[in-house]
Amino acid sequence: MSIASQIHSITSTLPEGVRLIAVSKTHPPEMIREAYDAGQRIFGESRPQEFLPKTAQLPGDIEWHFIGHLQTNKAKMVVGRAHLIHAVDSERLLLEIEKEAAKQQCTVRCLFQVHIAQEEAKFGFDPNELIALLDAGIVSSVPHVQIAGLMGMATNTGQMEQVRKEFRNLKQLFDKIKSTRFSDNNYFNELSMGMSNDYPVAMEEGATLIRVGSAIFGER
Ligand SMILES: *Cc1c(COP(=O)(O)O)cnc(C)c1O
Repeated sequence: MSIASQIHSITSTLPEGVRLIAVSKTHPPEMIREAYDAGQRIFGESRPQEFLPKTAQLPGDIEWHFIGHLQTNKAKMVVGRAHLIHAVDSERLLLEIEKEAAKQQCTVRCLFQVHIAQEEAKFGFDPNELIALLDAGIVSSVPHVQIAGLMGMATNTGQMEQVRKEFRNLKQLFDKIKSTRFSDNNYFNELSMGMSNDYPVAMEEGATLIRVGSAIFGER
């Protein structure tokens, strides 16, 4: 199937309030163009060195999301260009984003990445660690950052009941944090979960953003 028909077959299943991020990492600008011409406007990249030239080269009305692990020393390549940074996985990275955003006098929307998978994960906060960070007042120390929600990646398995359980846990954590730590604002709204293999389950469990690459662009 063509890129256009893959996109249409996914977007036609999106419930109200869920948006598709077409994950274009490793794929050339021409393929992004093809998706763009099919009406797709939200794209996700995961390497700063690739993100930067693509954002410069492709149409200005694209909403770019930075979805991958971001090294602290590369934050400046992404701040000011990404509509949303999905994978803030350490206090150190958050403080670096704040520093860069203050320098550029802009506000950066970010999600906290939470470790939900069974696998020994490299990145992401444990739920208790994240709550402790919030209770220590981290939000008020990053005035140029808007914490817009949470992001997670489920275990890479065909056992969809396991995946569903992990997404459900993340949604519960999201609801808890929203109602107890962000009840006085209206921007803690995004729950980024679901990839090519598991996005239908993620949507059933409350995702607002799904990040789909290979089901649109083919294998990398
Ligand atoms: C690559 C990537 C995706 C997309 O993965 P697919 O399996 O190709 O859909 C989603 N989220 C993150 C964080 C990624 O790095």
